Amino acid sequence: MPPKIVEVIENGVCAACGACEATCPLNAVHVDLEAERRDPNNLTYYVHGAACEVCEDCLTCSRVCPVVDGFPTDEFDNVRSFRGGKSELEGQDGAVVSAILKSLFEQGEIDCAVGIKRDEDWKIEPFILTKASDVDLSKGTKYTSAPVLSQLKEAMAKYEKIAVVGVPCQAHAAALMRENMTDRIALVIGILCMESFTEEALCENIIPKIMGLDITKVVKMDFGGGKFWAYTKNGDNGEEPEAHSVAIKEVAPLARNPCHHCLDYTAYYADISVGSVGAPDGWNSVIVRTEIGEKYLNKVKGIEYMDDPKPGMFLIKKLADQKHKNNAPKEGGAH
Ligand SMILES: Cc1cc2nc3c(=O)[nH]c(=O)nc-3n(C[C@H](O)[C@H](O)[C@H](O)COP(=O)(O)OP(=O)(O)OC[C@H]3O[C@@H](n4cnc5c(N)ncnc54)[C@H](O)[C@@H]3O)c2cc1C
Ligand code: SF4
Ligand code: SF4
Ligand code: SF4
Repeated sequence: MPPKIVEVIENGVCAACGACEATCPLNAVHVDLEAERRDPNNLTYYVHGAACEVCEDCLTCSRVCPVVDGFPTDEFDNVRSFRGGKSELEGQDGAVVSAILKSLFEQGEIDCAVGIKRDEDWKIEPFILTKASDVDLSKGTKYTSAPVLSQLKEAMAKYEKIAVVGVPCQAHAAALMRENMTDRIALVIGILCMESFTEEALCENIIPKIMGLDITKVVKMDFGGGKFWAYTKNGDNGEEPEAHSVAIKEVAPLARNPCHHCLDYTAYYADISVGSVGAPDGWNSVIVRTEIGEKYLNKVKGIEYMDDPKPGMFLIKKLADQKHKNNAPKEGGAH
């Protein structure tokens, strides 16, 4: 019998997190950036046609798949603390994620982290960070999806104290890996996520066609105030980038299919969840969810905290509710 991930793939709800690739002992699974465009009836997703030829039904992949595991019933029942945070580093919001990684590298608390970088065309590449200076390469949000966890195969072979940074589906898979098959994942940092896009949707449609922008001029993308924002470089003398926006309702329908079925907004399974919603501009919302998260955050230097940030947890809960309502299984429909 083929592993359960085949059903996930066939139903078009594979989040492309990369965990099955990282854990399959036979190297039977490969998640590539084209995963979203594959034909669900053609399982070329399995590099060696594993479903019928290579796979030995060990079921490891099914034990680490976040979609097979299912979504949390209450996203907020494991919140240990909530506060605002920011650092002096440059990043998407308050650069709390970058500050955590940098400080833990500097103290020797982690020896690698998995992250994602981009080039000037916003083509993205998951990579393994091995030192504090690598953190600058990963800063900033890329709204395209990449199988970040596939890096863990190499990371687990070489390193013992690994930090994972990922959107909720990836944080969930990393937590399942830690629970079921490795003691090398030291810390899981989740980033809040409403949706993500394929490279084709973001870089070939939304930015150039819907917003009329040259992707190579874009220095930052963001969601906020009901809009999707792209900021373009504005001269060579340190001028503020120029802001362009489009209503979220214009772009949200173009999100990847698994995102339309996803019921985790705040990375429930992470040790620490970090977002922008709920905190003032330039700050992060920081949710600690596990003892491990608390232990590591206590060691981190270089983050300034704010108790009871505004607009606060109520807005995070409101958006989580909205995501759940939009994506809940429709009556009679498959999930
Ligand atoms: C697809 C996506 C959707 C998001 N939606 C929301 C939202 O609805 N509400 C909200 O509050 N916050 C959302 N965020 C989180 C937000 O954009 C910031 O990532 C978060 O606030 C951390 O900010 P920072 O300044 O600490 O990040 P930085 O210090 O700049 O660090 C960014 C980190 O994010 C990682 N990263 C960047 N892009 C990706 C990606 N595509 N996949 C996996 N890892 C990535 C990098 O490797 C790096 O470690 C989203 C992020 C992503 C990637
Ligand atoms: S069941 Fe085992 S061998 Fe088969 S694809 Fe999954 S991890 Fe690989
Ligand atoms: S583990 Fe991740 S990449 Fe693999 S089938 Fe499940 S969601 Fe898809
Ligand atoms: S919406 Fe869900 S499936 Fe899509 S990238 Fe975010 S966490 Fe993953």
